Amino acid sequence: MKKVLIANRGEIARRIIQTCKKLHIETVAIYAEADEHLPFVKEADSAFLIGPSQVQQSYLKIDDIIDLAIREGVDAIHPGYGLLSENSTFAKKVEEAGILFIGPTPETIDKMGDKIGSRQTMEAASVPVVPGTTDGVNSIDEAIEAAREIGYPIMLKASSGGGGIGMIRCEDEQALSQHFESVKNRAKAYFGDDKVFLEKYISNGRHIEVQIFGDTHGNIVHLFERNCSVQRRNQKVIEESPSPNFPDEARARLLQAAVDAAKAVNYRNAGTVEFIVDEQNQFYFLEMNTRLQVEHPVTEEVTGFDLVDWQLKVADGEMLPITNQQEILSTGHAMEFRVYAEDPKTFFPSPGTIQSLDWGNVEDVRIDSGYEQGNAVTPYYDPMIAKVIIKGETRSSAIEKARKFFSTVTLEGVKTNIPLFTTFLDAEVFMDGTYTTSALPNWLESQKEEK
Ligand code: ADP
Ligand code: ADP
Ligand code: MG
Repeated sequence: MKKVLIANRGEIARRIIQTCKKLHIETVAIYAEADEHLPFVKEADSAFLIGPSQVQQSYLKIDDIIDLAIREGVDAIHPGYGLLSENSTFAKKVEEAGILFIGPTPETIDKMGDKIGSRQTMEAASVPVVPGTTDGVNSIDEAIEAAREIGYPIMLKASSGGGGIGMIRCEDEQALSQHFESVKNRAKAYFGDDKVFLEKYISNGRHIEVQIFGDTHGNIVHLFERNCSVQRRNQKVIEESPSPNFPDEARARLLQAAVDAAKAVNYRNAGTVEFIVDEQNQFYFLEMNTRLQVEHPVTEEVTGFDLVDWQLKVADGEMLPITNQQEILSTGHAMEFRVYAEDPKTFFPSPGTIQSLDWGNVEDVRIDSGYEQGNAVTPYYDPMIAKVIIKGETRSSAIEKARKFFSTVTLEGVKTNIPLFTTFLDAEVFMDGTYTTSALPNWLESQKEEK
């Protein structure tokens, strides 16, 4: 592999360029008008304007991207995350053009992109799934009948949903009837598919996911877990590894279940198996993400491996750099904080120009950012400014460094969620590691009441 096109933008494009440079692989970037001045455009060996700012007219233009890749003579395309990364049509067309797709096969993407289908696959492989309907529910009456059997509260979910969009918790029959059509409509509008199903809502649950990796020689390993339960709008804000407050015995079973899940689909390249874990440490399969995850640096920090490097090698037909599970170790503790240009109270995006930016110089802090001082965070894309990854020998030393970091950073010009981090780091549920997926919203409510 000598030349790679990156079909993405911002921090993840930069992240991929970094590893390619290390491996002496040439990089081709694509960019939309709004991104012209971002660092990834300068850092790539070559960069091409692909279209106007809207993603439909630029980063999602499958045929234009592939035409460019052919013209530039690239060997492979890395899709990053979001955008086209889980689009099986794209993966298929890339391979048909004789270019390597850095990810799983189009068939796996299809199979796992559908939550109903992936639940069925996992059940067949004896991986525990969240109790719920095996198939989609077609009418309100069908939904009500199924929910009676499952028991409330239930989660009404779009089968092709993602990014926290297309799901709602329903406390009772009335709520289910009320939301049924709107979730269907939303699913149709966002994902072009109105299939919905029901899951039991796991109260006081934790989101714990496992990084897995497979190659084309039949090897599959896990790279431990990440706890991603600090969420707002069912979307992650802080992730950490190892998962606090999770017994070793349960962890070992969870890791094995993830490997079983990957084996069930003969998985290739990087993937994540997401579970929801209940108060008794029972875990249930939620979904599988067939791409590199936003929070992959957490895993890189505890294992010491470069996951993009692994992705490139696997795509090139090589074996996994390590195939013996026993040789993959996790040391210390890592946390990732997603810094967003958003209002810390309403979570609404807050685009604008970063007038002044100084990350300070706290030790053991890694910044993965798509922006520099003077760059604009535009309304066209995800408003994440940076990922701050902090490593400590222990969880408490990582938290201590995080406190120091967030008290010294300067970021002006846009509203960010940094004020939220500075205070939530001191919240008891975070400090003692017992937090669930509702901890952050609950804590914000309690702060309001105090005032
Ligand atoms: P992760 O599980 O890696 O944290 P997220 O679910 O937060 O991933 O999504 C990763 C990126 O992909 C984000 O930029 C998010 O906005 C985007 N994304 C995820 N799912 C979708 C989707 N179905 N449609 C559009 N964007 C999505
Ligand atoms: P997405 O594709 O949007 O990432 P997921 O199915 O992974 O959707 O769920 C996202 C988040 O929603 C989870 O991390 C969790 O916080 C919450 N969630 C989803 N399903 C359930 C459930 N059955 N019970 C409790 N919480 C859930
Ligand atoms: Mg998910």
